[in-house]
Amino acid sequence: MILGVPREIKSDEYRLAMLPSGVEELVSAGHQVLVERGAGQGSGIPADEYAAAGATIVETHEEVFANADLIVKVKEPLPSEWPLLRPGQILFTFFHFAADEELTRNVLESKATAVAYETLRGRKGDLPLLTPMSEVAGRMSIQEGARFLERPQDGRGILLGGVPGVQPAHIAILGGGVVGKNAAQIAAGFQADVVILDINVDRLRYLEDIMPANVNTIFSDRHSVREQLQKADLVIGGVLIPGARAPRLVTADDLKLMKQGAVIIDVCIDQGGCTETSRPTTHAEPTFIVDGIVHYCVTNMPGAVGRTSTYALCNVTFPHVLKIANNGLRKASAADDGLAAAVNMYGGKVTNRAVAETFGLPF
Ligand code: NAD
Repeated sequence: MILGVPREIKSDEYRLAMLPSGVEELVSAGHQVLVERGAGQGSGIPADEYAAAGATIVETHEEVFANADLIVKVKEPLPSEWPLLRPGQILFTFFHFAADEELTRNVLESKATAVAYETLRGRKGDLPLLTPMSEVAGRMSIQEGARFLERPQDGRGILLGGVPGVQPAHIAILGGGVVGKNAAQIAAGFQADVVILDINVDRLRYLEDIMPANVNTIFSDRHSVREQLQKADLVIGGVLIPGARAPRLVTADDLKLMKQGAVIIDVCIDQGGCTETSRPTTHAEPTFIVDGIVHYCVTNMPGAVGRTSTYALCNVTFPHVLKIANNGLRKASAADDGLAAAVNMYGGKVTNRAVAETFGLPF
């Protein structure tokens, strides 16, 4: 099979979808891998490393799309890429179709086969290709929180860990899933005073067992959220109801309860955010202020740490890439229900019920 790895063209996107080690394995299995020159630049992996692993370096985006049977990407194809898609060509990437009707209709019209990272299911019904990006965003949320709590960044001028004789920052983490757990681990390491709120008591039990003494858990309800907002220097929003808009746990009025210069890192902004006053921002302009509260709402946080995120993503996507390349998609997905769940479009038809229902398309 001929595989293609194009450069990502979305702004602020520094990841790519294949490591040199992946190229080496594919080539030794008898496949050809086309890598666009510059594709690894944002992750600090030069074209030479791909060439040394056996990749064919191509100069243009168009060449990758024109020749590859299987395109492996990170982000959804953008409008300039839609005309490059070919019938039967397999695209393995993040699509998030339900959030974008134009994208859905254009990829459908191309009759390309869309295999979506975000709907690939693991053995326990989990979404294993989403997990590493939540791990990155969770860990990064504390790093960003620490930065924006600094006074020159409009924050309260608080050091997360305090110092001997001075209280550490109080951090309230809304949602104790992958984002919340990873945020709590890093925050604990900074010696902050951390509380995780969740509605899943079993999850709180688990977190209580594994977290150090400076992390406590509280059942999440309206009362406990408001109480924590009053105390918090830093709030991390990491709630998710799969397939739905993020629940609005912090209303515009609630901001008045908070301390001036407190920071909200609304990680779940990609699902609408858990704060009423949140709106999507970019790495170029990550924050804005409402009622004295710093809001950070970057929708693609992992993009900023492209190198870490590329490795984290490829670790989980590569086994599936190899499976598709070695067996063909039809055979590979017949043998693997989880991979079959990732096929969102096939032969000009939508094969994912949620996507079809969202836009009233035949299923
Ligand atoms: P997850 O499913 O692992 O965890 C979500 C948690 O939220 C669950 O434990 C759930 O019980 C809890 N929850 C649901 N409703 C709640 C409520 N009312 N109060 C308290 N807790 C509640 O999800 P995750 O992988 O941690 O992802 C969280 C969000 O972060 C998702 O929206 C994801 O898309 C997003 N995310 C954003 C970025 C970014 O760059 N901004 C990157 C990665 C992930």
